[in-house]
Amino acid sequence: MSTTVKKLYKILTRTIFPPKCLVCKSFLNPPEGDNDGFPEAVDLSASLQIQVERLMSEYLCRDCIDGLIAVESPLCSCCGMPFESRHGLDHRCGECSTSPKNFRIARAPLIYEQVFTEVIHCYKYNGKIQLARPLGELLLMAFRLFWDKDSIDVVVPVPLHIKRLRERGFNQALLLTRYWQTITGQLPLDLSDLQVENDVLVRSIPTAPQSGLGRKQRAANIKGAFGLLDKAKIIDKRILLVDDVYTTGATVDECARLLVHHGAAHVDVLSLARAV
Ligand SMILES: [Zn+2]
Ligand SMILES: [Zn+2]
Repeated sequence: MSTTVKKLYKILTRTIFPPKCLVCKSFLNPPEGDNDGFPEAVDLSASLQIQVERLMSEYLCRDCIDGLIAVESPLCSCCGMPFESRHGLDHRCGECSTSPKNFRIARAPLIYEQVFTEVIHCYKYNGKIQLARPLGELLLMAFRLFWDKDSIDVVVPVPLHIKRLRERGFNQALLLTRYWQTITGQLPLDLSDLQVENDVLVRSIPTAPQSGLGRKQRAANIKGAFGLLDKAKIIDKRILLVDDVYTTGATVDECARLLVHHGAAHVDVLSLARAV
């Protein structure tokens, strides 16, 4: 389809089916400017908050976008939890000091609060699988912000148990990385050296859902739930684990324990949002 036909098609579908906010269901205002809703050139130096706005404006209304909260320093230098006090430097939180983690650092662009909880729910359970692209791009923007691209060798999405995979039809963490190469092809970004490996870890035990469990129960529930499929791919490698949400970190910590135990150089964690 030519660009003009694509634009006409988009204007027509918007007129017949005006888009609604995924969260509050209010009609979305037509985009400002005269570019017919087509994205303007991406400014990679823009703040995370501006990137969030750019990526989510097709799906959320102004009020709901304003309800998304970017994670900002000061935060825990290990698990990335933002501190209540907005003053001072990053430092290790009490939890990471008393229970050292198997991963080196964990970071997320957003706080897991009401609006974003709904967005994730739409993505994972309500068939809004098209969110994989903007959410995947948000993850990529966060990766650029928190890591030097040459500091990671292998990206490993946290696996789902085959039973859960069959129920849901997709692994939400893997899908978030699927468009990375396409996105970087359209941006002044080169991540061609970064390998996404989906066959490194396997979730061998179908654990009970972690929701509703406390920190200790989550850690006990997930212990031993993963197996390593391909040791050769992780030995001496610097690994970035990817998951959708960081709650207590029990799942990614268990994956990191296994990877480090089998010879990974170190493991870092990137998720879309983290609970506070
Ligand atoms: Zn809304
Ligand atoms: Zn911490």
